[in-house]
Amino acid sequence: MHTAYIGIGSNLGNRDDNCERAIRLLIENSVTVTKRSSMAETEPWGVREQPKFINMAVETETALSPQELLRLLKKIEEDVGRLPTSRWGPRIIDLDILLYDDLIMETPGLVVPHPNIAEREFVLKPLAEIAPEKIHPVLKKSIKDLYLQSPRNS
Ligand code: ADP
Ligand code: MG
Repeated sequence: MHTAYIGIGSNLGNRDDNCERAIRLLIENSVTVTKRSSMAETEPWGVREQPKFINMAVETETALSPQELLRLLKKIEEDVGRLPTSRWGPRIIDLDILLYDDLIMETPGLVVPHPNIAEREFVLKPLAEIAPEKIHPVLKKSIKDLYLQSPRNS
């Protein structure tokens, strides 16, 4: 079994429901959710002219490989994000593999740990809630320390 931390975000539709649906679909697909952070509303990052996000993180146990897990996340994004009225409507859910055991990998389609964890408060905050002592395998610092050192907290 592997421990994977998954970041969940939504900024369209019923954002809480979208996150809950994604969690339900994870569970239905043999990914065990062992911890979940609270949901927090955060300012959009990058493109700022868009609705605010709800962000959260979950800790999971899974037998899936990183590639298999990513494939499942993309399928769940499709299932949750496909709006009944507009086939090509905006994506209403974002699922990212933040950490996978202590794995470090960089392929064109999958980078683990997820890049920019340390710069994104909306990722670090929920992660620090459920995995404060976890050491980031590349940065060699705990998630709690990364969170406390993130720009907004210094
Ligand atoms: P973002 O999450 O950066 O806002 P997307 O969700 O559209 O953007 O992701 C774009 C691509 O990033 C995905 O198709 C996936 O192949 C790739 N990717 C690379 N590393 C990861 C990861 N750790 N978790 C999820 N997607 C990843
Ligand atoms: Mg993503």
